[in-house]
Amino acid sequence: MEKLEIALLGEPVLRQIALPIDDVTSTDIQQLAQTMLFTLDGSNGVGLAAPQIFESKRIMVVASKPTPRYPYAPTMPATVMINPEFMALSDDMVKDWEGCLSIPSIRALVPRYHLIRVSYMDLTGQRLEVDFEGFIARVFQHEYDHLNGLVYLDRVDSNRDIISEAMFLKLIANDN
Ligand SMILES: [Zn+2]
Repeated sequence: MEKLEIALLGEPVLRQIALPIDDVTSTDIQQLAQTMLFTLDGSNGVGLAAPQIFESKRIMVVASKPTPRYPYAPTMPATVMINPEFMALSDDMVKDWEGCLSIPSIRALVPRYHLIRVSYMDLTGQRLEVDFEGFIARVFQHEYDHLNGLVYLDRVDSNRDIISEAMFLKLIANDN
């Protein structure tokens, strides 16, 4: 399978509202999911939304694991989420660092809900409900934003919360 090109900030597809999927079990959607899993696997990313590979559809993958880009990430099996929804279970918001495969070389502090209840369809079309907190809740909200034409830079409180990836790597090296 070929790793797909990642849409970079400035591509119109990243600013579109992605369309709901009504044929979850179709070959097209199953193949798209496998391509997304494969693309994410080779990327050091912890999540990927279909608009990032030029498919304006409501499907995303959350795949938290420690990588050179996110050395402190918890481990969670790669999970395909179709037509996802979520609600915050508390008003608590936490600021932490995010990056994005579509915005290379940049990191920023982004406020996100700490605890959320997520609902999504899996690859069989079954709707599941699960609660996420902390880093995985953050990844979910980041990918979910991509389905609505938003990127994490839209969420930062101040431009001063944006730094280069090289500086970010220095910061976390000093923390550990
Ligand atoms: Zn992203």
